[in-house]
Amino acid sequence: MTRPVDIPTLVEQARRGAPRAVARLISMVEDAHPALREVMAALAPYSGHAHIIGITGSPGVGKSTSTNALVTALRRRDLRVGVLAVDPSSPFSGGALLGDRIRMTDHVLDPRVYIRSMASRGHLGGLSWTTPQALRVLDAAGCDVVLVETVGVGQSEVEIVGLADTTVVLLAPGMGDGIQAAKAGILEIGDVFVVNKADRDGADNTVRDIRHMISLGDRTEPGLWRPPVVKTVASRDEGVDEVVEALDKHLTWMKDKGELRARRLRRAADEIEAIVIKSLRERMGDLRGEHGVDTLAAAVVDGEQDSYSAADQILADLT
Ligand code: GDP
Repeated sequence: MTRPVDIPTLVEQARRGAPRAVARLISMVEDAHPALREVMAALAPYSGHAHIIGITGSPGVGKSTSTNALVTALRRRDLRVGVLAVDPSSPFSGGALLGDRIRMTDHVLDPRVYIRSMASRGHLGGLSWTTPQALRVLDAAGCDVVLVETVGVGQSEVEIVGLADTTVVLLAPGMGDGIQAAKAGILEIGDVFVVNKADRDGADNTVRDIRHMISLGDRTEPGLWRPPVVKTVASRDEGVDEVVEALDKHLTWMKDKGELRARRLRRAADEIEAIVIKSLRERMGDLRGEHGVDTLAAAVVDGEQDSYSAADQILADLT
């Protein structure tokens, strides 16, 4: 049994920025709490303020160091910042993970910085509905910027793109030259490219490679966004203000071109679809007896029925 929650009070506290209330609401998202529907209804009028920035790149490239440095740079501008580390490969519930990550401890005592990690495995279409809902909590809590970082390895690099307004692709010399980047499909997804570890040999070559690959792409026409390539040494806080400037420029460009709304529309559509599919699957699991999927599966195996007609029968029962 989940204990009853006073949603209006919790939402009000979160809106005033109370860290515990924010954390509680994100846990409710992670747990697919039954009252989530009520939470989202209460938060709906307060969303759309935050600039959502996705940070992606191979493990070891400096994502968490860069996230930490970006938080510092954003705080210098007196912005309220949220950090959501999403681990699509981990079944473990969040909270502890990022707290353990030493490089983020610079900000744990800052009341205007919210740091949370969240696992989404185990939920059907997990990333596509849990992440936007957790982001909505941080947005409604008054964050000006929310950084979404994928942790863990996997196919999440490209998946994260649909979740952000602006996507930052992080590379490092020798790890992600242009060819590799092109192969990984990340050239298309980056709005801002950052070559981190610029204190190492080969950084300028990596920058040149990426610029070259971008120039070969289809983003060179006038009016289109030409992704900037910025060099950083995240561990020494170098170049990070330039990244923030590039992010600002991208936000302004998106607003001017209607792209911000277009991206948010796509995101909302994906979220709705994920919720529909989740709900259909739950209701399908509730069907019993001759209408149940087990009975129909047996009929298909025994050759009494084909799988399309079985699916039609379930769809008819659900609608
Ligand atoms: P992540 O796996 O992408 O999150 O990468 P981390 O942020 O954990 O960084 C991986 C390693 O690279 C750590 O040992 C960092 O201290 C180091 N690192 C991060 N940024 C830089 C940098 O700009 N220069 C150098 N030399 N090392 C860095």
